[in-house]
Amino acid sequence: MISIKNVSKWYGDFKVLTDCTTEVQKGEVVVVCGPSGSGKSTLIKCVNGLEPFQSGDIIVDGISVGSPKTDLPKLRSRVGMVFQHFELFPHLSITDNLALAQIKVLGRKEDEAKKKGLALLDRVGLSAHAAKFPGQLSGGQQQRVAIARALAMDPIAMLFDEPTSALDPEMINEVLDVMVQLAHEGMTMMCVTHEMGFARKVANRVIFMDQGAIVEDANKDDFFGSPRSERAQTFLSKIL
Ligand code: ADP
Ligand code: MG
Repeated sequence: MISIKNVSKWYGDFKVLTDCTTEVQKGEVVVVCGPSGSGKSTLIKCVNGLEPFQSGDIIVDGISVGSPKTDLPKLRSRVGMVFQHFELFPHLSITDNLALAQIKVLGRKEDEAKKKGLALLDRVGLSAHAAKFPGQLSGGQQQRVAIARALAMDPIAMLFDEPTSALDPEMINEVLDVMVQLAHEGMTMMCVTHEMGFARKVANRVIFMDQGAIVEDANKDDFFGSPRSERAQTFLSKIL
């Protein structure tokens, strides 16, 4: 579903990604971890074309992200992305937050978009909050709305960038539970997270990045059982 091939990226003279290569199969859950500044956010933003890269290519469902001919807004509409900060529209109700892109980007009719939004809101356990505004919800609830909003676009894959790291501890599990459920339903997911409990539960593979490079790309049991690189071992010993 996602194939990252020899991707390198520079910010001016600074090489932020160095020859990154990996694949995410349909239905696979891949967790990306590594120290702060190692390039995790940059790599997943490259996957849906939010950041350009200078060499290599990324193929998403057969579409080349690096090709100048690719319609990036269309690609982005098919790959859901959930960020650390929920980025809901503060002046729109939850219902309207869920409906807006469906109407504007996919051309769905308003009642169809609202119906779909409500069904997804129910799936993340928030149907009672449809008429509220984002500011009236907790951080964990807002993040679940953000996930529902991404799902409303019928994505072929979901990208998560530290979706729980801005949340108070008691709200982390309610968001992870939604992600676990998605994983069990067979969603293709690439998740930047340091929640190793989540990784152990649902990840097929774990990628460890350091200084812009993919240092380790292993199936979950190998990664947790015996990370090959010293850098991954040190990292794990600090966070586990
Ligand atoms: P991570 O998500 O692993 O913490 P990032 O992908 O956000 O890492 O950043 C990787 C590196 O790129 C960091 O050193 C960061 O300072 C740098 N960086 C990120 N965005 C920019 C930018 N717009 N311009 C210059 N450097 C950047
Ligand atoms: Mg980051």
